[in-house]
Order: sequence, then C-alpha cells, then structure tokens
Amino acid sequence: MKKIIISIMSLIPFSAFAYDPTAFLGQLVEIESGTNQVGNVNKVQDLLEVRLKKLGFAIDRQKDPAKKSGDLILATLKGKESKAVTLIVHADTVFEPEAKFKGFKISEDKKYGYGPGVIDNKGGIVVMLDGLELYLKKNPVPRYTLKVLSSPSEETGSAPYVKNFKGYGEETNLVLSFEPSLDDGSIVNSRRGNRWFHFKTIGKEAHAGRAFKEGINACTEMSMIAGQIAALTDFSKNLTLNIGHLKGGQDKYNIVCGSAELKVDTRFSSVKVRDEMQKKIDKIIAESNRRQEKRGIINATTFEIVDDSPPYSPEKMTSTVAAVYLKQIEAVEGRKVIALGSGASADANYLARPDLVILDGLGPTGKEMHTNDEAVNLESLTTRAKAFDKFMQEIESGKLSL
Ligand SMILES: [Zn+2]
Repeated sequence: MKKIIISIMSLIPFSAFAYDPTAFLGQLVEIESGTNQVGNVNKVQDLLEVRLKKLGFAIDRQKDPAKKSGDLILATLKGKESKAVTLIVHADTVFEPEAKFKGFKISEDKKYGYGPGVIDNKGGIVVMLDGLELYLKKNPVPRYTLKVLSSPSEETGSAPYVKNFKGYGEETNLVLSFEPSLDDGSIVNSRRGNRWFHFKTIGKEAHAGRAFKEGINACTEMSMIAGQIAALTDFSKNLTLNIGHLKGGQDKYNIVCGSAELKVDTRFSSVKVRDEMQKKIDKIIAESNRRQEKRGIINATTFEIVDDSPPYSPEKMTSTVAAVYLKQIEAVEGRKVIALGSGASADANYLARPDLVILDGLGPTGKEMHTNDEAVNLESLTTRAKAFDKFMQEIESGKLSL
C-alpha cells in the first residue's frame, strides 16, 4: 500500500509533502515576474517572505508609492555580534508578457531546468534560502546579523529603492550576492560600474541660407562633444564610453540646428578611472560652454547623470574571503573553480564602499541567462546551497572573522 502512495505522490507536481529544491524552483519560475508585472513580482516576494519568516527573520516590506514597481524586501535576523552579512537576490526577470519563453521544463536526463529567470535569479533565491535553512538549523542565533535584500526591479536598476542601497552598504561587513555563477562555475569578485549621462545643448535657429551667421548650431557643437567623449574609451583601462543616442534640430536641411541631445553609457572598473573620466568630461563641457559663450549663449550645454552604479574591485580582504568560499565549493563539487571579474553591474554594486568585501555569482550554475535558452544545472541548486552553508559555518566557528 505504502509503495502505491509514494508512486502517486511522485506524480503530483510540486508536492508539499517533502521539500524538493527543483519543485520549489518550478513554483517560482511558473510565476511570470518580468519587472513590469508588479503583481507577479510581489507573488515571488510572498513566497520568499514566507520562508524567511519561518527562519525567524523580521520582514520590512517596502512599497513603491507610485505603484510602478513591486515591493522591496529587507529582512533581518539578529545575530550575537553587531556585525552584519547582507545577502542579495531579486524577484524580477527580464521576460515581460510578450516573451515567448514561458513555464518550467526539465531536460529528459533531468540534469537541466529551463525557464524564464531560472538562474537569474530564481535559482539564486532557492540556493540562498536552502543554504540559510541548513545553516540556521544548526545555529538558530547566528554569530553575525543576517540581512536579506530582495529587489523587485534589479533588471532595471532597482528604481525606486536604489537611493537607499548605499546606506545598506554602510551597515554591513560582507555582501554575498546570489546572481548566477559564471558559465564555468566560477564566482564573481568584482564588477564594472556604469554612469549614464544625458547631455543637452542649446543653440540658435536661423535660416541656413539667408541668415547662417546669425545662427548658433547646436548639432555641430553636440557632435564635437560626442566625438571627444567617444575618444575617451581606453581598453587598457577597461574604460568604455558608448554614444547610445544623438539627436537634434528639426527634421529639415535649411534650418540651423537649435538644440541637441546626447545619451552616453560609460563603464569602468575602478572609482579612480571613473573620477579621471569625469574630470575629462567636465573639461570637454566647460570648453564647449566657453566656445558657445563667445557666440552669445551662457551655459549652453548641461548634463544629468541618470544612473550611477559604482564599480567594486577586490578589497584587501576579498581574496581571503573568496578563498574560503571557493574551498567549500571545491569540497562539495569535487572540482576547482575561481573568483573572477564581470563586465556587467548588478545590485551589489550600489552597496560598494572601500573595504567592503562583495562576493557575487554565488547562485546556481547554468547557461544562457536573459535568453530563451536560460538553463540551470539542477544539481547545483543543492551543491551551491551546501557550499553557502559550509561557508557560514566557517564564520560561525570563528575560522573566518570579518
Ligand atoms: Zn540577476
């Protein structure tokens, strides 16, 4: 009789009778939570909240007054010491309703799970929660205070909550982020930052034939600025400046262009390189304004920084902390992986400050994130959760102190 019951149970998907990480992942992936699907993003946060509460966390759930974004979760579990470890995940995906990639599927050999957000970041949520559960079962009151930060809109820069992230960084002693590992299973010890600029310049319209001399051409000026800015790209410093958008004037041949706009994405791997770049941009704009002033317009060119994510690079302590983490992965998976830099930024960047160790890519292994082939290596849900638990045990036992 018993055998029959078990076999029937195994046919029920996502059975609540025994916890299975793949089933829980399936439940998360089946909720379509593209950043703009606010209601569904909140459903993912609900599932996270239930499990965090069970683990003893106090939940601070913040709402977007404009209701354009889902809720942010900031959960806290007080430790014996005042130092804190912040764990980062996110509930949204890049797949909005029009995406054709839907639902959770498992490969025939049961090695891979497929679905929107399956590694980014739903698999990361599973790894973090399962690792926490293993760790807290043995240590209900952890050595350090634990905080979990789950953004509803990481894929679009965590607006409207990001303004508080710097403060969260100041209140923590270590950040562990559960974005997917790199393709070969390596974890992430640094990420480039980005700063987005929106430039505007004004000129003076005039008839291009009859009154050319009376006009001040904003397009000409902005093209010069764009050329100078593009030339600041320096691969040897890992610094890139991309002219993403340039427009100006009316859609006419014979009118001197009266205004122009430019959008630029810049990426850098250190604050020093960023600050040097900023100085050069300031100089380019100041020179442009001097030129335009001579022609009769004061302060013709202005700019706004619309996104500003600092880079983080390995700090003094990073190699020590990363080595401890890598050792745990090696012990569980029986293979060597390393810690590397990543070109893209993520939520963890916003918490960066000098001397703060940030490790990322601690989620599952897999492939093809943000594509219709996004896949998770199902075994890694368990191995990376175990590695996270073992890492926390190293802190608990005092072998690693922050
Ligand atoms: Zn992500």
